[in-house]
Amino acid sequence: MNLAQLLVRAARVHPERPAVLVGDRPQWTYRELADRTSRLAGHLRNGLGLQPGDRVAVYMTNHVAYLEVLYAAWWAGLAVVPINAKLHPREVEFILGDAGAAVLFVSDDLAAGLQPLLGGLPALRRAFTPGDPAYETALAAPSVAPAHRAPDDLAWLFYTSGTTGRPKGVMQTHRNLYAMTSCYFIDVDDVQADDAIVYAAPMSHGAGMYNFAFVARAARHIVPASGGFDPAELVALSQSVGRLCLFAAPTMVKRLVEHIATNRAPADGFKTLVYGGGPMYAQDIQAALTTMGPRFVQIYGQGESPMTITALARETLDERTHPRWAERIASVGVAQTLVEVRVAGPDGQTLPTGETGEVVVRGEAVMAGYWRNPEATAQALRDGWLWTGDMGAMDADGYLTLKDRSKDVIISGGSNIYPREVEEVLLRHPGVREVSVIGQPDAEWGEVVVACVVGSEVTAAALDALCLEHIARFKRPKRYHFVAELPKNNYGKVLKTALRDMLHKEEPTC
Ligand code: AMP
Repeated sequence: MNLAQLLVRAARVHPERPAVLVGDRPQWTYRELADRTSRLAGHLRNGLGLQPGDRVAVYMTNHVAYLEVLYAAWWAGLAVVPINAKLHPREVEFILGDAGAAVLFVSDDLAAGLQPLLGGLPALRRAFTPGDPAYETALAAPSVAPAHRAPDDLAWLFYTSGTTGRPKGVMQTHRNLYAMTSCYFIDVDDVQADDAIVYAAPMSHGAGMYNFAFVARAARHIVPASGGFDPAELVALSQSVGRLCLFAAPTMVKRLVEHIATNRAPADGFKTLVYGGGPMYAQDIQAALTTMGPRFVQIYGQGESPMTITALARETLDERTHPRWAERIASVGVAQTLVEVRVAGPDGQTLPTGETGEVVVRGEAVMAGYWRNPEATAQALRDGWLWTGDMGAMDADGYLTLKDRSKDVIISGGSNIYPREVEEVLLRHPGVREVSVIGQPDAEWGEVVVACVVGSEVTAAALDALCLEHIARFKRPKRYHFVAELPKNNYGKVLKTALRDMLHKEEPTC
């Protein structure tokens, strides 16, 4: 079933409800959104002659037209390729070529940088910039009926952020994204008609994928006037619009919570903050709960099983009296309802409770494979299970605790050390703002543990004493580097590869 049917239904049942707002200013109702979408779809199908399954790339910062572009492509039976707006034009060129995109929608702030490269893309027929006269002309085309799509047809080609190598296109089908949306209702939050999702994180990724649950309920979609994440703007919106829901990376949650605590700002306009995409340290979620109350839900997912591996429910995060609360809030929760999750050894066998192995997942949300890359697909999907590359352990109640990416595990003197465990201890020191623990090659030990710390009024000796108090001696960092900041990708994830390279070129500072 075509994802565009969500919009068809919302516009039929609730035509006059506000659909898209910029800040707190309404732009289009559901009737208007569906009308614009069906006309743009008409232009793609009849004006440009695109065929079912053709790819439509979207290289746009968060934009008032983002949703109509996505839905127009589905309405016309096409697949979308949303591209991270922070990528370099050369990286975008690679994705456009790899996907064989036939049409590109590019926002005006990004168009000039990309223009010189477009000539070298033989499959690309047209580029549009929303707001330009050519785009307005396309919106005046006669509308078409939504195309039929089979559940396993490609809907969204998601290029992985990839910390190394070329990005790969994850094939997410209509079925996958419907399953993700069902899990949102079952495992994350029950959306109400007067809820509002605000796109504070890039719409090309998870935040944008969460639109479906809000279209299904004909709720409001807010593109912040800033286009992105600004804590003061979010607080103001939460007060003027109310019942604000958002997806945020842990670094964003931390900044919002600090802003609210420092300014004694109100939190009551926020309904739900879904966090995920990277580790949230126990200490940070505790501070978030104390400052903002039970408004949080965690999800763990990856492009290959979008937003849908496990979830840590609001109620669990709020159950402070539970004997295992401390462990649970440091976990990523339990399997979402439409997927199965287990921890496997290298042979694929399920490991006993509590043992660490690779997280594998199967079910309705798991991708169809990588675009035109059968080798990578065979590597990731084995016997129907997706191998996530994440290491974790599951307790008897089904709560999964992630350790690290398998490639980040440090093997020192033959023992496995999970950086996250060491990071959690170091973060207990009040002077430590951020920390990343990595392995460095060592002639004697194979690898040694090295901690890179952002902070003030903290010494290596104090951190070593803290480790001695909490973890086995062999896990203690052998060296500490005090750095001004950690290298991060566009989503705020620490780039451990870049950190290793950086340290490789430097001498230890203590
Ligand atoms: P991406 O495919 O770029 O969204 O990255 C997915 C990866 O981010 C996962 O494989 C995990 O390593 C990490 N990740 C996602 N959600 C969480 C979470 N809740 N806690 C810790 N790591 C996470």
